[in-house]
Amino acid sequence: MRIYLDNAATTKMSHTAIRAMLPYMDRIYGNPSSLHSVGQEANEALADARARVAKCLGCTEREITFTSGGSEADNQAIISAARLGEKKGKKHIISTAFEHHAVLHTLEKLKKQGFEITLLDVHENGLITPDQVADAIRSDTCLVTVMYANNEIGTIQPIGKIGRICRDRDIIFHTDAVQAAGHLKINVNEQNIDLLSLSAHKFHGPKGIGVLYAKKGILLSNLIEGGAQERGKRGGTENIPAIMGMTAALEEACENTNKNTAKLTALRDKLIAGLSEIPHSILNGDAKQRLPGNVNFCFEGIEGESLLLLLDDKGVCASSGSACTSGSLDPSHVLLAIGRVHDIAHGSLRLSLSEENTEEEIDYTVKAVKEVVEYLRGISPIWRDLCEGRKEFIIK
Ligand SMILES: *Cc1c(COP(=O)(O)O)cnc(C)c1O
Repeated sequence: MRIYLDNAATTKMSHTAIRAMLPYMDRIYGNPSSLHSVGQEANEALADARARVAKCLGCTEREITFTSGGSEADNQAIISAARLGEKKGKKHIISTAFEHHAVLHTLEKLKKQGFEITLLDVHENGLITPDQVADAIRSDTCLVTVMYANNEIGTIQPIGKIGRICRDRDIIFHTDAVQAAGHLKINVNEQNIDLLSLSAHKFHGPKGIGVLYAKKGILLSNLIEGGAQERGKRGGTENIPAIMGMTAALEEACENTNKNTAKLTALRDKLIAGLSEIPHSILNGDAKQRLPGNVNFCFEGIEGESLLLLLDDKGVCASSGSACTSGSLDPSHVLLAIGRVHDIAHGSLRLSLSEENTEEEIDYTVKAVKEVVEYLRGISPIWRDLCEGRKEFIIK
């Protein structure tokens, strides 16, 4: 038996997505830039996909650029806004302390190029407020970039309100919507979004393909120079199979958002209730204002890596935070940002669900986590110190 609860790292492709890709790995193999009929078939598919993706986001085809995934879209969005700001002498950027590294590392690069970066503090519940953004804006602010939903603790930011503030002040607003796309409603106009990143493999599409939405009038800077693909803004022959798979997956996810949300929320809350019974445990991130499939806990006296390995032995695939930082000894920057101390942040567990998970799997998982936590605490000298009063519990 294997229970996959790491859907924030990546998802299994849906059959709809696989089926949509097959003809483009077989019969329809043309290069969309070729003028002959084989190429034109591929070009028609590309145009069709662009229109369908645009419809899902509430924008126009011309505002869609296909990228190699969420990381590239984040990089291109932020670099583009920075270059536009620079031209007007505006070199201040606002973001948050718990963004994905695709955002944070791009901002660090810009900092070395003379940009000033304000990273907003995240409240203990994993949220920032629109007022925090408003208060941080300066006359030289060129970009605000705030993620829609956090990849580790799942908290959902008030991006519509943040977008409104930016629009009123004529500041570009980017959101990394990689965890939100396909799971939460997106309408770029209603939510006042200028730039948005998404990635197919987080909503049952293929890996290595994503979208950068850029509102009409925002000039993108190239990360990849080359041919005239993507209106000259991203060189490279388009990955048509992946684009078709992503498009089908996005449509499927958007059509079923309400149904999936209802199912996932019930499973999530059952899992949260079960794990909350573990003594000296704490849920990370707001209990309600979070992705329907995200559960993230810290357990005192536990080391995250051991927890993961023992859970894997029991058939439960989980994560201690983001896939990108696992393997490093640093505790999650997200958990530190919401105020967890190092020792506690090390004992974290992320379980991210998909619509395919069942109640039985949740029951099994709760039991497995309880057993593993109890076992690990039983052999931990730190736990003994805590229980015998030589050290104080941090999580009451
Ligand atoms: C996964 C993820 C990314 C990176 O997307 P890739 O397609 O894997 O490059 C960026 N931001 C967030 C919030 C993510 O969860």
